[in-house]
Amino acid sequence: MSKATLQSVDVGSAPIDRYRELLDPEAWSAFDVCMREFAGQMRGRTLWNVNSTPRGGGVAELLAALIPYDRGAGIDERWLVIEGSAEFFAITKKIHTLLHGVAPDGSDITAAERREYEQVMTRNAAALLEQVKPDDVVLLHDPQTAGLVAPLSSRGITVIWRSHVGVDQPNEMVRNAWKFLTPSMNGASAFIFSRRAYVWDGPDGSRIHIIAPCIDPFTTKNRDLAADEVARILVAGGVLRGTDGEPTFLRHDGSKGRVIHAATMSAVPPSDARLVVQVSRWDRLKDPVGLAEAFANHVAPKTDAWLVLAGPAVDSVDDDPEQPQILADLRSMRDRLRPEVRDRIVVALLPMQDVEENAAIVNALQRRADVVVQKSLAEGFGLTVAEAMWKGRPVVASRVGGIEDQIEHQKSGFLIDDPTDLEGFGSAVVGLLQDHDRAAALGREARRHVIRQFLAPRHLMEQAQLITSVI
Ligand code: UDP
Repeated sequence: MSKATLQSVDVGSAPIDRYRELLDPEAWSAFDVCMREFAGQMRGRTLWNVNSTPRGGGVAELLAALIPYDRGAGIDERWLVIEGSAEFFAITKKIHTLLHGVAPDGSDITAAERREYEQVMTRNAAALLEQVKPDDVVLLHDPQTAGLVAPLSSRGITVIWRSHVGVDQPNEMVRNAWKFLTPSMNGASAFIFSRRAYVWDGPDGSRIHIIAPCIDPFTTKNRDLAADEVARILVAGGVLRGTDGEPTFLRHDGSKGRVIHAATMSAVPPSDARLVVQVSRWDRLKDPVGLAEAFANHVAPKTDAWLVLAGPAVDSVDDDPEQPQILADLRSMRDRLRPEVRDRIVVALLPMQDVEENAAIVNALQRRADVVVQKSLAEGFGLTVAEAMWKGRPVVASRVGGIEDQIEHQKSGFLIDDPTDLEGFGSAVVGLLQDHDRAAALGREARRHVIRQFLAPRHLMEQAQLITSVI
């Protein structure tokens, strides 16, 4: 059987000193000491991250944010992306959907699909074993890598498997997906889940750890932008009408980038439009069609706002084969609307040629939003929520999964209890569009809350402590 070709993702390194000003002195000192100790423990070892995509989605986002700081602190940390067939990614997408308690398209996982999954894992394991040394630590992310636990751990390598997905109340479908994954994962030294509620039967309690995701305010996605920078980036990116200007942004390595690729837009809002924005992959669990319906029936008739549904240009995230279908559903729903409503529902396919250019556009769009929404039906964590909260935006989101950990209802955003309650969703959005002071107050508290709980240092320390405890 041929070996897979692993893709190495270079994310550079970043000084943890950046956080000195953002954290209070005590928190900074704890962070600094922890990272020094961790670097000492890891001397001579490499920390590997393995996942299934270098860009698009929350896991890639998290790795790109965190790895540079570990490297900056002196840890030899690297990121590899597995190679899989189209069939493999169709299977792992099925598992992903099942793990959210939702029936995927097509049948259950068949015996032939299981064989394909195992073969892809075997090919990737062979490639990994050429690079990973016995003393190294390997962090495997999500179901796409679960089958790598056994071949690595049986060579004595310390393996930690992390699940970025889950549901609070598992149904039969979720349990079936667990059954598919669990047998191959016994050798892991630890399991990480984003929330306690996501932990599944199988691994014993002592190996289970909870680490909530986080954001990094210094990335291109999150760094502060002035209002004129926001406008120039959005105009150059084709997302908003307006006068051209120099659309520059700061790259993670400190160099200057320029927005040169434009989004493909179903319509372009005018420069002064009020915007309701959702940024997501084209995934049915993000419910873009439900959101467009909520907007068409309950927001558009009462306000002059526009809805921007922004996501990656398709074909660019190849571990997710369902995206073209979701976009087709969205387009056909939109085509059935009256023109005056339809034209205010914008599908924005953001350029993906340059990840940091994409990030700069997302950053500008989130900052330009009057209200940010995340109308997910299920959500592992929901980084887009933390990103918007960090930017001081009022957020209306479904009370599902990790979103509930981030927003305190009516204090730092609005949670809608039933994710299918289109009217409830719509009226919360209308309320915020009509009450500027309330929206601003929610946004201010949202930013404070993210600084307290969802920044990278907290995550880096929890991960460092966990790794130290297993090596
Ligand atoms: N994202 C992006 N460009 C896009 C769409 C999404 O950069 O066109 C990012 C988004 O800003 C967030 C991540 O992808 O950082 C999505 O993470 P989240 O946890 O919200 O959802 P997931 O995709 O992991 O289900």
